[in-house]
Amino acid sequence: MVKAFSASLSERMGRVKESVTIKLNALANELKQKGVDVINLTAGEPDFSAPEPAKKAVIEAVNQNLSHYTPAPGVMPLRDAVAAKTNRQQPDLSEPWTGKNVVVTNGAKHALYNSFLAILNPEDEVIIPAPYWLSYPEMVKLCDGTPVVVETKFEDQFKLTSEWLESMITDRSRAVILNSPGNPTGSVYGKEDFEALAKVVRKHPNLWVVSDEIYDRISFEDSGFVSFLSVAPDLQDRVITINGLSKSGAMTGWRLGWAVGRGDLIAAMSKLQGQTTSNVNVLAQEAAIAALKMPESEFQSQIEAYKKRKDLALAILRKNGKLEIGVPKGAFYLFVGIGAFCAAGEDSVGFAERLLEEKKVTVVPGTPFGAPKFVRISFATDERSLQRGCERIIEFLEGHEGDTKHDSTTE
Ligand code: PMP
Ligand code: GLU
Repeated sequence: MVKAFSASLSERMGRVKESVTIKLNALANELKQKGVDVINLTAGEPDFSAPEPAKKAVIEAVNQNLSHYTPAPGVMPLRDAVAAKTNRQQPDLSEPWTGKNVVVTNGAKHALYNSFLAILNPEDEVIIPAPYWLSYPEMVKLCDGTPVVVETKFEDQFKLTSEWLESMITDRSRAVILNSPGNPTGSVYGKEDFEALAKVVRKHPNLWVVSDEIYDRISFEDSGFVSFLSVAPDLQDRVITINGLSKSGAMTGWRLGWAVGRGDLIAAMSKLQGQTTSNVNVLAQEAAIAALKMPESEFQSQIEAYKKRKDLALAILRKNGKLEIGVPKGAFYLFVGIGAFCAAGEDSVGFAERLLEEKKVTVVPGTPFGAPKFVRISFATDERSLQRGCERIIEFLEGHEGDTKHDSTTE
């Protein structure tokens, strides 16, 4: 029974949902600790170790007694290094970024949240293409904005088209979120995709673009990763580029992210941090400087490992022709349509619960990503676990092949 208190929590808390990715990952790890042979395919985090130079930098920083506050937006050598990295990905800007255009945050999540706090007025609308990373709508709500979800289609590789973007824009639209490579879909926007969207954005001068590029390095396309501002440098004043080291540096727990944008926005976000979190842990900042100095070639083996795991998982899952499977072009997720296996009235939450109960495999249901008949399978895990997990999923599906009341629609 829930005890009633007279001193209540805010209404805001009642509007916000818990992060299912964080919850399920914790549940899988808890079961493992209890000795259950559970295979965890939920985790949106690389299983690789943090880079050696980053580790060394922390040890040196500790020995040098770097234990004091830094400026709220981060130390200048790190801000400069982030600006230089972003300029390499956005080479045609009329005014290349400098360290003053960078605020260092507690992960990319914090960069997104502070961006919304800095740009949204109450009830401003934020256009979010679905399937979306589940924290976007919740963060927008926390900042008193209104999430406006726009459905994308499996046939369009879950990419937002210019027609759909245009059709969603109203007088209250304040921002659109783009995420490429995308979580949970693995979609990657190419130059032409972004050019088409940029044409629409140009027509609406009050609209911000929040471009979440946290999976930049994990792109399987031969043409490589495309940053939104590389295609539309004229929109520099209203694009916020979000990135960090969680995925590309396998440093999720170090909590190191950033936002890059025009000066007054970054000053506002720094002011926010000055009153709330202050600077990011000084040791993590030193580690980030070292990680950002590493050449791209040092990470090539990780990308190759992800490609191999993706192909391994696809080969197993394709054994069941009723699964709807798209080929991810980036990030480390397979987003799989399981509508043909849902019982009447059941969505992916029920499916995932049955899968855990019967086969001890955890996946993330698509419902909190805005896609109730899909599940997300992470391949940021070792090959053996991935193989065993996917095989168990196939066994689970075969075990239910004869069931009669399945709902064959995927949404
Ligand atoms: N954006 C996307 C699309 C993500 O998947 C995540 C998950 N980690 C984040 C942002 C947040 O990253 P961080 O761990 O750096 O806060
Ligand atoms: N972003 C990752 C995921 O989607 C990590 C967990 C989280 O921050 O949501 O699984």
